[in-house]
Amino acid sequence: MEFVDLKAQFRAYQTEIEASIKEVLAGSRFINGPQVEKLEKALAHFVGVSHAVACASGTDALQLSLLAHGVGPGDEVITTPFTFIATAETIALAGARPVFVDIEDKTYNLDPAGLKAVMNPAVKAIIAVDMFGHPAAWEELEAFAAEHDLVLIEDAAQSLGAIRGQRRCGAFGKLAATSFFPAKPLGCYGDGGMIFTDDQGLAEELSCLRNHGQRRRYYHEMIGCNSRLDTLQAAILLAKLPHFEAEIANRITVAGRYDQALAGSFLAPVVAEGCRSVYAQYSLRSPDRDRLLSGLQEAGIPTAVHYPVPLHLQPAFAGLGYKEGDFPVAELVSREIFSLPMHPFLTAAQQQQICKALLAQVG
Ligand SMILES: *Cc1c(COP(=O)(O)O)cnc(C)c1O
Repeated sequence: MEFVDLKAQFRAYQTEIEASIKEVLAGSRFINGPQVEKLEKALAHFVGVSHAVACASGTDALQLSLLAHGVGPGDEVITTPFTFIATAETIALAGARPVFVDIEDKTYNLDPAGLKAVMNPAVKAIIAVDMFGHPAAWEELEAFAAEHDLVLIEDAAQSLGAIRGQRRCGAFGKLAATSFFPAKPLGCYGDGGMIFTDDQGLAEELSCLRNHGQRRRYYHEMIGCNSRLDTLQAAILLAKLPHFEAEIANRITVAGRYDQALAGSFLAPVVAEGCRSVYAQYSLRSPDRDRLLSGLQEAGIPTAVHYPVPLHLQPAFAGLGYKEGDFPVAELVSREIFSLPMHPFLTAAQQQQICKALLAQVG
């Protein structure tokens, strides 16, 4: 059994994916080929924004977002301690200071109630994450960012296809970063990322920054970097995109089956009113997590822990001076959280096997 079954996905779309790859090989425009712009247009439309800028990874999408706003030494950026390292790593790499705010106990997203206490004139931006594919509290985050004149960045690496109210993830804040890492809800066959925004000037600057600061070849207007999305990866994503809505529907079905089978023994992941989650992970909690997971391992069920150590307690961020107890919700969730296999091709029979093995552990 696979935690995320990419082989089953490839078998399902093999003909289209291979045709799409062959087209790139025949055209041989491996960098900035026509498929890249086609994908940008298609995904901007999918998300509901006017501009999309493809780049080399989700991490780069965050990095470019900070770079475009001149975030650097002396600046502070508010974010969550319960996320993948990239969210805060890019802040530090830009030379700015990550300032953590604790999470909500139900959605595991940045709790807007904690923002006020950390505000000071050095704060330039907020990066909030749609954890596990569930949208953050964007109405409150947007109101706070507007009131304090902060750049609001959505880390939508796990949430492409999720919905909050009338809007889709990728459309919140001033700009949003997503990832096409293979195991993400919409994954390519290597690294890839994209930035979404409604700001045309910003989109132009971002597309310049990702390509060595040049609009015209060998005329460099600004200091940029090399962070382009490979044409091959764009072609693979174009072949997968027509299936994405059906995959999301399957993810929701899979989550519903888990919810039902495990009710009574585990609290199902919360989906807030008016939201659609894409279940980038199907995550549960148990104070007895480590024992449960070794039992599942013995039964041949793959599991994962996203994430075992909150960022403020990671050695890489020791220099920030945080200590145990600073973010009690993030710390508790990190101790209890675990994820079950989740992908659109998971069968009811496989889920029965998983749930039986899990329920056998709780007795
Ligand atoms: C995966 C992920 C990233 C980084 O994306 P890459 O494409 O792997 O660089 C950033 N933030 C979050 C929340 C992620 O899950």
